[in-house]
Amino acid sequence: MDSFKIKAIERLETAKWCMDKDFTSSCVSNLYFAYFNFFQYVIGESPKGRWKHIGIAKAFVYKAYRESLCSECNEPFKSKEGEVICDECFLQKTSED
Ligand SMILES: [Zn+2]
Repeated sequence: MDSFKIKAIERLETAKWCMDKDFTSSCVSNLYFAYFNFFQYVIGESPKGRWKHIGIAKAFVYKAYRESLCSECNEPFKSKEGEVICDECFLQKTSED
């Protein structure tokens, strides 16, 4: 799955190069595919078939909505109602007060 991360970074660098050269449409298409590859990297297994692009974007949003990185320890956790810290950090914080 790291190959998607590498592709995303390459496309981002290419987009930056295109922007410096004023190649606007090439910049935009490279940015689109940089995001697309980043989504593939984050979700892991990609949907296939006709709706591949929409399916990958939906899977990314679904995952991003349900999982967050803890603002204290930076570890992924399931966010229930918009919490920004994991249960462990919450308990540690409340016991310190
Ligand atoms: Zn935490």
